[in-house]
This record gives sequence, C-alpha cells and structure tokens, in this order.
Amino acid sequence: MSPTPSPPLVDRFGRRVSYLRISITDRCDFRCVYCMSEDMQFLPRSQVLTLEEIQQIARAFVALGVDKIRITGGEPLVRRGVTGLFRGLGTLPGLEELTLTTNGSQLARHAPALRAAGVRRINISLDSLRPERFRHITRQGELQRVLDGIDAALAAGMERVKINSVILKGRNADEIIDLVEFCRARDMDISFIEEMPLGVNADHDRAEVFYSSDQVRADIQARYRLIPTTESTGGPSRYFRLDDGPTRIGFISPHSHNFCVDCNRVRLTAEGRLLLCLGQEHSVDLRQVVREYPGDSRALTRAIVEAMQIKPQGHTFDLSAKPVILRHMSVTGG
Ligand code: SAM
Ligand code: SF4
Repeated sequence: MSPTPSPPLVDRFGRRVSYLRISITDRCDFRCVYCMSEDMQFLPRSQVLTLEEIQQIARAFVALGVDKIRITGGEPLVRRGVTGLFRGLGTLPGLEELTLTTNGSQLARHAPALRAAGVRRINISLDSLRPERFRHITRQGELQRVLDGIDAALAAGMERVKINSVILKGRNADEIIDLVEFCRARDMDISFIEEMPLGVNADHDRAEVFYSSDQVRADIQARYRLIPTTESTGGPSRYFRLDDGPTRIGFISPHSHNFCVDCNRVRLTAEGRLLLCLGQEHSVDLRQVVREYPGDSRALTRAIVEAMQIKPQGHTFDLSAKPVILRHMSVTGG
C-alpha cells in the first residue's frame, strides 16, 4: 500500500495550517482605543486586494486543504460588495466553515444575507454594555446599533454567536459579570481577550491596563461555577462552560498562556500580505503574485506552499517593551 501523502500546508514545526483569516479592509467605522489611533491613515484603494483577488487567493488555499476561513478587518461589513464575496466563498468545495468577526454596527442589515451565504457562526466584538463607555472605548460607536446587530444575527438563525471582549483594567473590567450575564441570557458564547501590543498606542499604557485572563476567570468564578472543557475551535481560546446552560466562556491569553504550539492559522492582510504569525513580521506578498500572474493558480499555489517554510515558531509579545509589531490589529486582521 502506498503511504498517504502528507498534507501540503505543514510548517517546519509539523503544524498543519487549515485556517485562513482574511482581512478584507483596513477601514472601520470605529476607532477602538486598543486597536487604532484616532487619526488612522488608511490604505489607498489600489493597494487593497480586489474582491476577485481575494476569491482567487481563498480558492487556492481551500484547494490546499484549508477548510475554515474567517473574514475580518478592519470592519469587514463596511466594504462594498461584501455579501457577494460571502456568496462566492460559500460555494468553494471543501470549505467547511465560513465565518466572520465584526463590530456589529452594520450587522442588522447584513445578517440575513450572510446566513443565506452559509455563515453559521459569527463573532461580534462588544466591550461594554454602557452606551457612554462604549462610545469612549470605540471612540465613535453607538451601542444600540451593535445590540440590534446581535439580535439580528440571532434572529437570522446563526448557530453560534460569540461575543469578543477585550478587558482593560480601569476601563471595563467591572463589566465582566454583566457581559457574562448578557451572553447567558441569549445562550451566546463569550471570549475574553488580553490586549496585544500591536501598533503604537497613544491612548493608554498597555502594561498599566493589563488585566489577565486569570483575573477575569477569578472574577467569574466568584459568581459562577466554571467547568473546564477540552473543547477547541482549533484556535487559541481555552473554553469553560457555565454549569447552568450552554454558554461557553473562552480566554484568549497571549501573555499568560502562550498558544503557539497548536497554531493552525495564517492571515491575509487587506493589501495581500500573507502573515505567517500574528506576532511576527514574516510574510509573503501574495498581491504581487496575483497581479504578476493573473489567473495562474500554479504560481499562487507555489507561493503559498513555500510560505509555510517561514512560519515562525511563535510570537514574542512583551508588554513592558516598546511594541515590535508596528501594524495595528486592524491591519493584521484580528
Ligand atoms: N472590526 C471587527 C471587530 O472589531 O470585531 C473585526 C476586526 S477586529 C481587529 C478583531 C478583534 O480584534 C476584535 O474582537 C477586537 O476586539 C480585537 N482586537 C483589536 N485590537 C486588539 C489588541 N490590540 N489586542 C487584542 N485584541 C484586539
Ligand atoms: Fe474597528 Fe474592530 Fe479595530 Fe474596533 S477592533 S477599531 S471595530 S477593527
């Protein structure tokens, strides 16, 4: 019997890459304090991948065994034509999961079309349930629109809606229980995220506002029994369950619990840079490949397979040092 060929997208450390996150725009209608500066310079349109180029790259990845794609940004739902992109991606043979991370502001009008395109799970960012505070953290967001977006996602029949909350000491750490209860009342999951040092942050000293996942967990455990699970979504979240319902509580802890050994993902930035690690600069310019060899799937496939050779072992985040990664999360595609 001939040996089974090894899957094509495996890096030097034996990690299989099966998950692609695509940032389809660096633009956003919010300016969250941990993600962007107040006066962001966005990319000129010519430097951003067209929707057709994104489709082409996604198709190449799926042909190489990637079975999960998450669309993110920036705010993906501010990009014109986004539902057409979802419809196209939803038909890729072999793609098992097509999902989205959004700030929720435009979700009320897009949720039914996303569901119809095959999106079954969705992550929505929400750091505060207090309108004033929400506006401060997002600098320009309106809480009610996001709450309407969450309702619309549930009403559209999404099978899993997960809230993402970045917790900062002195800003929203006193809302951890409120956020858990908000999700519990709607049978939604929630992940608490430690702030990552991406881009220069003029708003606050990241080490000062650092609130670890262990602290968040202790706050929740003062009120609820948390049952550890071995569940995984193939990502960095460690999950617990509340003992009285389906809500899962995840912790994304790049500082306190390094998640790199199980890394199964790569990221495509809005300008077509394939980033091999969230916390390092190793990348390959796929825009150049698709523009130089239009329609040539072999050149693209070769570039992607070769890129696996430079996927680094892990990130080296250090809150006390100057950020070494100068791109913001909105550029990286969080
Ligand atoms: N605009 C969408 C949203 O906010 O959900 C998608 C893009 S956003 C960059 C994706 C996720 O990254 C959000 O949940 C956001 O809270 C998180 N994020 C942004 N900057 C971060 C940082 N410096 N550290 C940790 N998480 C961050
Ligand atoms: Fe926009 Fe999302 Fe960044 Fe907030 S976290 S500024 S919503 S991209």
